[in-house]
Amino acid sequence: MISEEEARQKILGTVTPLGARKLPVLQVLGRFAAEDYFARLPLPVFDNSAMDGYAVIASASRKGARLRLTGEQPAGADRNLRVSNGNAVRIFTGAPMPAGADAVVMQEDVTRDGDEILINTDVAPDEFVRRRGCDLGMGQKILTAGDQITAPIAGLLASQGLDEIAVGGDVRVAIISTGDELINPGEKLHPGQIYDGNSPLLQGLVKHYGAIVASSQRCSDDANSLREALHAAAKNEIVVVTGGVSVGERDLVQKTLRGLGAEIDIWRVAIKPGKPFLFGRLENAFVFGLPGNPVSAFVTFLQFVRPAILKMMSATDLALPKVSARLTVDLFNDGERAHYFRGKFEQGAFGPIGRQESHALFGLSQSNGLLRLAPGESCKRDELVEVQVW
Ligand code: AMP
Ligand code: MG
Repeated sequence: MISEEEARQKILGTVTPLGARKLPVLQVLGRFAAEDYFARLPLPVFDNSAMDGYAVIASASRKGARLRLTGEQPAGADRNLRVSNGNAVRIFTGAPMPAGADAVVMQEDVTRDGDEILINTDVAPDEFVRRRGCDLGMGQKILTAGDQITAPIAGLLASQGLDEIAVGGDVRVAIISTGDELINPGEKLHPGQIYDGNSPLLQGLVKHYGAIVASSQRCSDDANSLREALHAAAKNEIVVVTGGVSVGERDLVQKTLRGLGAEIDIWRVAIKPGKPFLFGRLENAFVFGLPGNPVSAFVTFLQFVRPAILKMMSATDLALPKVSARLTVDLFNDGERAHYFRGKFEQGAFGPIGRQESHALFGLSQSNGLLRLAPGESCKRDELVEVQVW
């Protein structure tokens, strides 16, 4: 059995980012940049008005001044207008500033009188003018390779005129849920059977972290079926198999993988829940064997599969987000494995929810955070702890 840190290091030392690809800017939300990007246009692109109003020369537009209107400049094509002393140009938000003008008086501060306006306020230079480059300068870095593309970043890339963006490759994941006891929701439940909850759980996680569910199938505890399922799944980048990775005679995953020529790099990790976790390589696929208990499958997915998927997608920040929380109860890990407590983070506090055994799916379903306690570690009520949230 190896430590959780060793296991993660080994996995992340083995998987590598997939080849990058270019995608239309409308399709890059949530993906990871494969290159650095720099501004090739300043923002704003040109001096423009921040208001609907009148473009003026500030020094010639004191309160009480009357100015003659000489033209109109809407947003869109630049009409190349000019403002001189005693004159003003009607202007709209986003419209290019006419030459000579250095301020905009908003229309609420003006009395319009035919072709003239009466200024009802004092005007300072630069007022309501958005200067070229004041938001973003040419050449400034706008996106770092490995960072995730959010909606505002996608907007920023588009504002640079970029129609295609280099992002990390697609990670296709095949999911196999093993167990003779499993049936599909909707089927009639016979004594001894249970519904397969891990398939939707794992499909949800795979999609949530931006990978593609290439296939998801159930497989009985039978060597032939398992061999076929694993072989077919291995054409993808990742295979996630749940159940059958433990030590019973009916736990056939490891043996079957070896029979197919797989290299098993990790089996059994000092983590609770999730000890029988397995990691190996079958053909060109990375194989993650997760225990069948749903909470074990969930925790080992978050700790080991998630960072591997992210790294393959070119992400650089692989850690789960953490928040600081006040613990609502005393907690102690008297075991020899790192223990992940499931619970709820709410209004700055964290407390465990439901039973903490690896089969207790209900408690997990009500949780939004994990608190890791190292072997022998204890935490007191009201102590500040770091909680991983998903
Ligand atoms: P195993 O890892 O195959 O020994 O299974 C451990 C426990 O998880 C057993 O109680 C199984 O019935 C349960 N289990 C395995 N696969 C699933 C699944 N897909 N959905 C719900 N429970 C499962
Ligand atoms: Mg089983």
